[in-house]
Amino acid sequence: MNWAQREARLREDLLKENIDALVVSHMPNIRYLTSFTGSSALLLVLPDEIVFLSDFRYEEQAEREVAGKAAVEIVASDLWAKAWELIASSPVATVGYEAHILSVDEIKRFEEKGAQWVFQRSGRLVEQLRAVKEPQEVAAIRSAANLATRALDEILKNAIVPGRREIDVAADLERELRVRGSEWHPFRTIVASGPQSALPHAGTSNRKIGVGDFLLFDFGAQYDGYCSDITRTVVVGTASQKQKDIYEVVRNAQKIACEHVVAGLLGKEADHVARSQIEARGYGEHFGHSLGHGLGLEVHEEPRLSKANGEKLPAGAVVTIEPGVYIAGWGGVRIEDDVYLMDGKNEVLSDYPTELIEIN
Ligand code: ZN
Ligand code: ZN
Repeated sequence: MNWAQREARLREDLLKENIDALVVSHMPNIRYLTSFTGSSALLLVLPDEIVFLSDFRYEEQAEREVAGKAAVEIVASDLWAKAWELIASSPVATVGYEAHILSVDEIKRFEEKGAQWVFQRSGRLVEQLRAVKEPQEVAAIRSAANLATRALDEILKNAIVPGRREIDVAADLERELRVRGSEWHPFRTIVASGPQSALPHAGTSNRKIGVGDFLLFDFGAQYDGYCSDITRTVVVGTASQKQKDIYEVVRNAQKIACEHVVAGLLGKEADHVARSQIEARGYGEHFGHSLGHGLGLEVHEEPRLSKANGEKLPAGAVVTIEPGVYIAGWGGVRIEDDVYLMDGKNEVLSDYPTELIEIN
């Protein structure tokens, strides 16, 4: 990872925003800037140095992970008190902070800190940097995608028997992910059967999987901190004509989006590529969510492939492409892949077939 370049890009942005010092409190942002993998820290980007603050629990880990990227200070009591002390002893007029991450109470404390500084909400500065991946980050996501598809393959071959509950299959899937090396589950694994598959963010329930059900898997793996996020929908038993038809609507939209979504498109244009296909087949009102989201140290990050995003998708982004069609009370289909966007081209990182699979 190119730490010096990350710092340089951040400092350029701070200069543009007229921010003298930035308090970074969002842990994935701290990890991005220092490689720290622990769960409690603050990072101060001061005019002439970067200071990493954490407590005694992380002393050894911080020395190992952060040294060389920031000055490490282990603080006995309150990290924020130490942060104010350091800001006060630096030539700083404007302090930026991550208002989108802090609680309302924390923001109040910030803004009541006194007339000594001007406080400026930094917006998603570090998140914007993170949207453009370095080759090593893309490689980590590719590995996470690989772990996920191999685990799914095992489950589809051996774990699906009518009468088993969704949570039994989810437990098997999570085990396969872990034994293959996934560091953790980046979000709650979804195994949704029959009518449950019509709920785009269904949990995993005690429902017994039946013959003729759609069975939807939405899950991910984590490798070197980076997430994958994959969805496949299969049919248990033999698919009905209606299941085949709806599956084909989604598959066609997903395929066309995977072929055409590249860097430089606006987020809303990318969304439209898939949405227009589904609308043309008469299912527009059954595709209620956006087409996809950025993927990296977090499972939902910048950029968004949605009607609301009028910004260009940057070269180097990794995004999901995940159209779906959901029919309440009956069932739903979603197909999701992770795609690396470049100028004029892309690479699908999650290499797994999208043809309809019938589990017999
Ligand atoms: Zn997903
Ligand atoms: Zn997703």
